[in-house]
Amino acid sequence: MEALTKEEMLARLSEIKEKCLACQKCSLAETRHNIVFDDGVPNPKLMLIGEAPGFYEDQQGKPFVGKAGQLLDRIFASVGLTRKKDVYICNTLKCRPPNNRNPLPDEKAACWEYLSAQIEIIKPGIILLCGNVAVQSILGNAGGITKIRGNWFKAESAVVNVYGARMMPIFHPSYLLRNDTREKGGPKWLMWQDIQEIKREYDKL
Ligand code: SF4
Repeated sequence: MEALTKEEMLARLSEIKEKCLACQKCSLAETRHNIVFDDGVPNPKLMLIGEAPGFYEDQQGKPFVGKAGQLLDRIFASVGLTRKKDVYICNTLKCRPPNNRNPLPDEKAACWEYLSAQIEIIKPGIILLCGNVAVQSILGNAGGITKIRGNWFKAESAVVNVYGARMMPIFHPSYLLRNDTREKGGPKWLMWQDIQEIKREYDKL
């Protein structure tokens, strides 16, 4: 099937978002303030999947806001990428788990319909799996983020259909904020290595 145009992608994403806005499939619907569906642009080169909305995301209805979002933007900017032009951003879950607890298996299963549709519509060449929750949802038990970050995984390694995407697990910016050292070999230093590798692959697409 031919790739969708940007307009077609936006129209289909908007249909999925409408469904999501009315979703009551799991108990998180009772406590959410907003659905956090996506941000950025539907770029078939690059998609980032995060974990679940936090406090500020739930308030604003947008993924990766606050300090973690600003840090993510700086990471992209270091290689000339911006979320306004170059990357489609979404989360594993569209509603905030209370007190930022990890998503439960039944919540991830219930919400998979929407993430799966987002991947199917964008069909990204590269998917960044941002943090352990995203890794587990897409790669199953591939390992903890500190061990597998920075490695490329082929589509065949995924436990779900990723439509041929190559995937790289990366640290979540919230983790980088808690581990703020720029020491060589530390999490931030590693993240800066990873984003350069990602940009090299991005430029090949
Ligand atoms: S987390 Fe997902 S499945 Fe659960 S209510 Fe929200 S949109 Fe629906």
